[in-house]
Amino acid sequence: MSAQQAYSELTQTLKELAILNSCSGLLGWDQRTYMPRGGSKNRADQLGLIAGMVHEKFTSPRIGELLKQIEGTDLVKTYDSVEAANIREIRRRYDRQTKLPKALVEEFVKTTSMSEVAWETARAKSDFKSFAPWLEKVVALTKQIADCYGYKGEPYNALIDDYEPGMTVEEISTVFEKLRIDLVELNGKIRNGKKRPKVEIITRSYPVDLQRVFGESVAAAQGLDFNESRCDVTVHPFCSGMGPGDVRITTRYNPSRLNDALFGIMHETGHALYDSGLEREYYGLPCGDAASYGIHESQSRLWENQVGRSKEFWVYFLPQLKRIFRSSLDGVTVDEFYGAVNDSQPSYIRVEADEATYNLHILLRYELERAMMKGDLKAVDVAGEWNSRFKNYFGIEVDNDAHGCLQDVHWSAGLIAYFPSYSLGNLYSAQFFAKAKADMPGLMSQFERGEFSGLLQWLRTNIHKHGARYRPAELCKKVTGQPLSHKPLIDYMTAKYKEIYGF
Ligand code: ZN
Repeated sequence: MSAQQAYSELTQTLKELAILNSCSGLLGWDQRTYMPRGGSKNRADQLGLIAGMVHEKFTSPRIGELLKQIEGTDLVKTYDSVEAANIREIRRRYDRQTKLPKALVEEFVKTTSMSEVAWETARAKSDFKSFAPWLEKVVALTKQIADCYGYKGEPYNALIDDYEPGMTVEEISTVFEKLRIDLVELNGKIRNGKKRPKVEIITRSYPVDLQRVFGESVAAAQGLDFNESRCDVTVHPFCSGMGPGDVRITTRYNPSRLNDALFGIMHETGHALYDSGLEREYYGLPCGDAASYGIHESQSRLWENQVGRSKEFWVYFLPQLKRIFRSSLDGVTVDEFYGAVNDSQPSYIRVEADEATYNLHILLRYELERAMMKGDLKAVDVAGEWNSRFKNYFGIEVDNDAHGCLQDVHWSAGLIAYFPSYSLGNLYSAQFFAKAKADMPGLMSQFERGEFSGLLQWLRTNIHKHGARYRPAELCKKVTGQPLSHKPLIDYMTAKYKEIYGF
């Protein structure tokens, strides 16, 4: 069998697996949108069956044989050719999935599903003590998993690869440490600023059906094609790419708060645009797949913040918003509205945090989970450590564990090392956007005219079309000419908040 034949067989198999996975995606979307509650047991069986089929096929020895026949041949000798990139990534994923003993995988799935239930109960009662033994079990199993994968330096390095291939704790920490110092300083300046935005503007009356009309028109302006998408309502908004020609988003509406649905829709549309910009020809292969969680998040945050929270965006959209919500926005100026949607204050809950405080929430989680994996922090001590660091970073006391270390599902679900992707996404988004502005000097004035196709085209060409052809750090360097840095994000936020808060 030639390398080319092996490659064809391998890519054919992977495309079939992608189709199977997309069936799971559709079942999952339905579960979170329209499925009657009674369907949950059967749905779990359906999802479990498909997941088992996919795992078995992907980890079969045949995949290993095909990879061996291709590796080292001329077909993959050019480092960033599609073939070489596909094989490199498939090998990475194959090795990871075949390194874990079946018994460990099963125990992990069982433990995390029980620990999620324990977490829900603990959160409802704000009782960390009842959750601590479960956290201890999850951490112990995660350490075993890290040992199976193998790592240099700390066990945390073995886990990052699931979210940010090629990244290390050393690289992340170097950037995060600088980010933390500058963020604490920036937040101090915001607190002591001479001006305050009129935040009540966004908490007036905004009927839900009208919010939907406006939100979907913004998504369409961003470039979302409603022939290939739809927007539904869920408690926890998400974006789900079903495959070529079908990527769906969800949102939640609050009739007395404009931000949640509006910026939620812009965020999920950013994810959807990335998915729909991946090369359809490579569907099912790494080159037709997202580069990482962090890169995915960079696309959503770029549209949500750099675009949606810019003044130029509201120069165009505020008059439209006023036509829809005349009585609530009468007399409101662009500057007032811009200030209101950028209001910043320390808060307990990560998912509700503004741009200036958001990353401090992530850094806190990252530092604690890293310490847990190293064995420097015991599960039982997490709440105490959380609260003291929180006071340090945000200047407020955590009043209960539900507002503290019990607020996120991630640790109970075994998703240790996921959190950094959120901040990496914010860092990448600022670095990408700064480069887009440098490449297109008229970009911000395009926004004032309601034109976003220039930006979308730039993202398509520089980021989307590559898929996972480059690892996140390589992609960042290739797109911006610079390694990942905290500077673009800090510079962008400092300029914005300086104007709004007057420091
Ligand atoms: Zn997101």
